[in-house]
Amino acid sequence: MTLEGIAAEAAGHALAVSGAFHPEPGDGLPEGTGTLLLLSPAEPGFWAHLTAQPEWLDGRANPIDRWSRRVIGKMACALGGKAYFPFGGPPWRPFQAWALRSGRAWASPVVFLVHEEMGLFASYRGAIALRERLVLPGPAVPPCEACEARPCLTACPAGALTGRGYDVPACHEFLSGPSGADCLDRGCAVRRACPVSAGHARLQVQSAYHMRLFHR
Ligand code: SF4
Ligand code: SF4
Repeated sequence: MTLEGIAAEAAGHALAVSGAFHPEPGDGLPEGTGTLLLLSPAEPGFWAHLTAQPEWLDGRANPIDRWSRRVIGKMACALGGKAYFPFGGPPWRPFQAWALRSGRAWASPVVFLVHEEMGLFASYRGAIALRERLVLPGPAVPPCEACEARPCLTACPAGALTGRGYDVPACHEFLSGPSGADCLDRGCAVRRACPVSAGHARLQVQSAYHMRLFHR
């Protein structure tokens, strides 16, 4: 069992291993866990794959969560591991802390995590805990260190998401108004403003779907 082999298996489901670490006491995982793998949408191609799956086509609620549970659950079983999900709790799993522990995502200047490849579109569909202690890559460099312009700090047209924090009611108020269509149709302007996000092949329709869920 190698990280590369698991990544290849995940890629067949349009998922990517977006982080991994060797857990320690305090990480909220059972004693004896050797590696925790985080799984995220693999781009390009995630949305086309997802929307052809039975959970999307059956028209029932929560298609992405149901698909994640089936696919990641099966992967975990095949690996002799245990799957965890950032939905369906309690108990809620500390995905944000796990992402930080992975060394592939960091706190950005604007509340959200920034991932080395997903930027401010960082999202996690699940995690798999393994008993094996896999060989993992070395640490990555946080993109914010070289980002002098820091466009995320000034991109919100409502001033709702800045270095001072996230005013969620102000965001919803803006989205309900006539100027909110751009964020609703194309995704949060702050997330889009990050140059790492801009290089990520996430489709606009995917962002629009999540924005409609957030602002319904
Ligand atoms: S815009 Fe720059 S500072 Fe802001 S999250 Fe992206 S890389 Fe970091
Ligand atoms: S969705 Fe639009 S209004 Fe809301 S925080 Fe993002 S940029 Fe600001």
